[in-house]
Amino acid sequence: MIEAMNAPIATHLAATSRLDQINDDDPGFGDIFSDHMFQVDYRDGAWRDPRIVPYGPFEIEPGALCLHYGQAVFEGLKAFLGDDGVVRVFRPDRNAARLVESCRRLCIPEIDPGVFLRAIDELVRVDRRWIPARRGRALYIRPLIVATEANLNVRPAREYRFFIMTSPVREYFTGNTVHLKAERRYTRAAPGGMGFAKTAGNYAASLLPGAESQSQGHDQVLWLDGVSHRHVEEVGQMNIFFKVAGKVLTPDLRGTILPGVTRESVLTLLQEDGVECEARRIDIEEILRAADEGTLEEAFGAGTAAVIVPVGRISVDDRTIEINSARPGPLALDLYRRIVDIQRGDVPDDHGWNRIVR
Ligand SMILES: *Cc1c(COP(=O)(O)O)cnc(C)c1O
Repeated sequence: MIEAMNAPIATHLAATSRLDQINDDDPGFGDIFSDHMFQVDYRDGAWRDPRIVPYGPFEIEPGALCLHYGQAVFEGLKAFLGDDGVVRVFRPDRNAARLVESCRRLCIPEIDPGVFLRAIDELVRVDRRWIPARRGRALYIRPLIVATEANLNVRPAREYRFFIMTSPVREYFTGNTVHLKAERRYTRAAPGGMGFAKTAGNYAASLLPGAESQSQGHDQVLWLDGVSHRHVEEVGQMNIFFKVAGKVLTPDLRGTILPGVTRESVLTLLQEDGVECEARRIDIEEILRAADEGTLEEAFGAGTAAVIVPVGRISVDDRTIEINSARPGPLALDLYRRIVDIQRGDVPDDHGWNRIVR
């Protein structure tokens, strides 16, 4: 299996580029895909034929197991073009490791992290001109594995396709805060479920709660645990942080929470700063109490797409609390700036987080 995986990546370049479709004033957010994609197929017990081909539709059997039973896992990460002209991918080794964990949960044959990294290197190099240069913008990288075998039995497929596409994205950070609705009814993930895996099904399950919260005037769902609907878990598709009386709190990873690379980076930076951090269960009542006592200083979400999203209001049942007068807090702003600085190479990469694409 390793032998087939380590085969050289064949490259078939697109005859023409679609780069001129990008609006320089606003590249959008995953609306236009770059000229090329990476593909490798799993059959007869091995990943075979790694290749870079022009981005475009491919055929899939209507009986493909991913379409019926959701056997699909994905990743999300970004490449940046610094003012020094260097291309950097932020912590792709963490995404490679997480993809292995997601594969295990969904009975998908693992992708060797070395192959994952090499595929991203080559794809980003081929579509280097697609990486937006302006601060805040990036080339979003979306790796995805789907079961392609046509069969109606509920069992792990014997055939898969792993592919990677990229798309230039605008800065997500607007300086506005978001209004969350603590979700007492719907559940994102349950103990023993797939919450720690980055899988299509988790996102499908979040659509209706998301739409309902927006129709009620909120921006995103604050997920509570699936058993008691009391303990805070995540926000939308991000990890959540609170600053209470000088201390930073985030839920601990207990199988129902996606182990975010941004979450891990935030915790590392804060711990180095000597900020006291606690990863533990957080009862939503504790947050309401802190708001009452005036010790709830900040709340923010953390994830690759937005980096940091400051939270201005949280509605819990019939109550709405306001945080930092619904303005972005200093900690959220500082973390945002520092992480972007590292990603763009504006400051030394002391942690070795950036993978440089030559
Ligand atoms: C991807 C994701 C995150 C954020 O992870 P990052 O690695 O920081 O992008 C958080 N929660 C969910 C549910 C996710 O799918």
